[in-house]
Amino acid sequence: YFIPAGDFGADSVAITGDDAHHLVRVMRAEEGDRCICSDGVSREAIVEITAVDKNRVEAKIVETLEMSAEPAVEVWIAQSLPKGDKMETVIQKGTEIGAARFLPFVSERTVVQYDAKKEAKRAERWNKIAKEAAEQAHRNRIPVIEPVLSWKALLKLVSEAADGAWICYEKEDGFGIGTAIRRYFGSRDSRTDEIGASRTAGADSAADGKPSKLLLLVGPEGGFTEQEIREAEAAGCVSVSLGRRILRTETAAMVGLACILYESGEMG
Ligand code: SAM
Repeated sequence: YFIPAGDFGADSVAITGDDAHHLVRVMRAEEGDRCICSDGVSREAIVEITAVDKNRVEAKIVETLEMSAEPAVEVWIAQSLPKGDKMETVIQKGTEIGAARFLPFVSERTVVQYDAKKEAKRAERWNKIAKEAAEQAHRNRIPVIEPVLSWKALLKLVSEAADGAWICYEKEDGFGIGTAIRRYFGSRDSRTDEIGASRTAGADSAADGKPSKLLLLVGPEGGFTEQEIREAEAAGCVSVSLGRRILRTETAAMVGLACILYESGEMG
């Protein structure tokens, strides 16, 4: 269970709200049972239940755990707002696979109307989905979901925050995401690559010990415009293909994420 840092004491934890309900009503937990609690940032432990109430469960810390289920690289998924509930699919599946952050954005062909009034409710729902997916995947951290960004704000972030950034473009011919990512990681382990040598995704930041921040940009149902691709490249993105088939926008994000994590060595 991901619990607020304030409920994570030195020797004990408190599990409240929906989590207490789930633990007691759904899992039928009793005194003496054990579960894993994390504050989603830096602490994770096996805890043993000492007191059960339907709204609150007290537990003592039995063993502190290493935060070991997180990828060595941070993959940020920038997803142009898709129609219907597809963003929820992107967040749920992307969290299971290992994304660190989601950046929904609006681009020229985004169909969904951005409604600031509905934003708080939608953000709450997206965060709940990320929390539940992180729990089921046994992750140590809940991915961060940023407020919806404009195209300009996203490009600023690409140039200022990302160590590598790839924009998925179905009209890109000849430069696949595999080559692009191998080129990025190759610049760290001296692997070279003929095509990639001329098209590098970004500088290497692993030397400072912090995980690289790798950004994947995926367009809306109608795709990116050529102008957007040019602007993204000017901001430091590399335009890549995900193969010769046109993928649905929510599929594209998952394929790109899996490719990055695979090439980073995350999947062995
Ligand atoms: N019409 C479909 C839909 O409703 O989802 C497919 C839309 S596709 C144009 C949406 C986005 O997925 C594109 O902007 C691009 O970022 C990504 N994409 C899909 N297939 C791709 C491919 N083969 N190579 C690169 N990017 C791709």
